[in-house]
Amino acid sequence: ENNDMSLQGKTAVVTGGGSGIGRAIALQLAKDGAAVSVWDLNGDSAKETVTMITEAGGKAIACTGDASAADNIASSADTTRKAFGPITILVNNAGISGFTPFMDISEDMIDRMMSINIKGPMLCCQQIIPDMLEAGWGRIVNISSSSAQTGAAIMTHYSASKGGIVAFTKSLALEMAAKGITVNNIPPGFVDTPMLRKSPVDIDKQAEVSPMKRPGSPEDIATACAFLVSEAAGYITGHTLSVNGGRVMP
Ligand code: NAP
Repeated sequence: ENNDMSLQGKTAVVTGGGSGIGRAIALQLAKDGAAVSVWDLNGDSAKETVTMITEAGGKAIACTGDASAADNIASSADTTRKAFGPITILVNNAGISGFTPFMDISEDMIDRMMSINIKGPMLCCQQIIPDMLEAGWGRIVNISSSSAQTGAAIMTHYSASKGGIVAFTKSLALEMAAKGITVNNIPPGFVDTPMLRKSPVDIDKQAEVSPMKRPGSPEDIATACAFLVSEAAGYITGHTLSVNGGRVMP
């Protein structure tokens, strides 16, 4: 069955699943039948996502920790395996943004950006891919950003990190293609989340100039992600699936 969208029997990890896009992805994957492990720095928000899933009849646990720290990643993966068995779906969604003119960006700011937005996803992949190799099946989705496609002033360190994620996606996809593991990325842009609300972006003004006259919703990203991690998307790998209401047509 290569048209199957069900995730029944599968175990998924969603990093940054306590808020915004990550929470919507966690809810959607659980709705589609996966047992979901919600990883987040913020333990309370991760638990909130878990409550939402279990109240809707799904299966989930929360793991609190930094998804860019090797020891946290290893312990969260172990907790997940103990609860739900081998992990064959990984969504690298945790990330930070940054709005600073290039000449004012400090070395520490660059290090933090690259650590959370690039090193974290790479370490999570290294931790979880052995489960996928053992199963002969796996799905990885990395959340990048439309800023990697268009460029974004005062976001050089951020867009560089997300451009890195797009290139990492393609390279890992090639390395894993013969093993039953697909690796894709979704570059959101202008999605109504706590991250966007905290940013200098004027949401109403941006909505006015966007083709659909509205920001994206976290659910818009989540349904695309659910497709990419399904059986149905098995021949799609290394792909950048733009979900942006027509704002960017690369
Ligand atoms: P969000 O509302 O800020 O959610 C991100 C979540 O990730 C938060 O719960 C955050 O925890 C958590 N997190 C941050 N660093 C972490 C770490 N090191 N380990 C574990 N969890 C961590 O952001 P969002 O808008 O949903 O963004 C999700 C992803 O989409 C990010 O990768 C972002 O770059 C990307 N994106 C978003 C947009 C947009 O328009 N919203 C556009 C392009 C790309 P805390 O709250 O405790 O920090």
